[in-house]
Amino acid sequence: MSTGLRIVVVYPDLLGTYGDGGNGLVLARRAEWRGIKASLHQALSADPVPMGDLYCLGGGEDGPQVRAAAALRQDGTLVGAVERGAAVLAVCAGFQIVGTTFPDANGSGRAGLGLLDVSTVKGTGPRAVGEVVADITAAGAGPLPTLSGFENHAGVTRVGPGAEPLATVRRGIGNGGGDASEGAVAGKVLGTYLHGPVLARNPALADLLLGWATGGQLVPLDDHEEAALRQERLAVGRRSPSGMARTRRRISRALRR
Ligand code: GLN
Repeated sequence: MSTGLRIVVVYPDLLGTYGDGGNGLVLARRAEWRGIKASLHQALSADPVPMGDLYCLGGGEDGPQVRAAAALRQDGTLVGAVERGAAVLAVCAGFQIVGTTFPDANGSGRAGLGLLDVSTVKGTGPRAVGEVVADITAAGAGPLPTLSGFENHAGVTRVGPGAEPLATVRRGIGNGGGDASEGAVAGKVLGTYLHGPVLARNPALADLLLGWATGGQLVPLDDHEEAALRQERLAVGRRSPSGMARTRRRISRALRR
């Protein structure tokens, strides 16, 4: 494998819903734009998981999610890499997989990887589907701008004492346990229910992960296009029609700059 920052998208053939593979691309581009040498690897489930510095796991349907968890447990590389200091972004099914237990399609508990102290059960209510707006609360994530994303899941996730919730939802469901929490973080492992892809909508979150993986200070980038996307999505999340119209006018002006 090449040198530089090794970014690995884990099992895009199983965990590839909602364009979550785009998170890997965002990380690789934001590294390259800063002159940080980075390589992006798509780790298919039939192959051994490569060693990496930063792993991305995406969302998936119940069946592929069970297969992905079993294969990752057997492979062992991801767990070993985290023990050696690798960073992880885990989204939705990926978030559930890095936890201790998650439900299969019948609601029976399956073993996760135990990288994050969260456990997931099947919810009794309707699926959580829609736009999410959430404010970061985790000390481990530092001060970051409000998160924007999209969720679609049946699982309800409880955050245990070994991790802290990532954020509090202003709009949407998030972890779904009735405490308005969304996602979780412990060390360099960060889980969230947010698709989008979440790093395209929240470049500051991408930079948090890049900082963890490189251990260095990152120079700021010109994010005015990303900021425009965020404004538009946050306005959708807040669902105010007049606010939406104002935001769209502001975005058109910003993008003409
Ligand atoms: N299968 C999981 C659930 O429904 C995860 C779904 C997803 O990744 N979008 O909770």
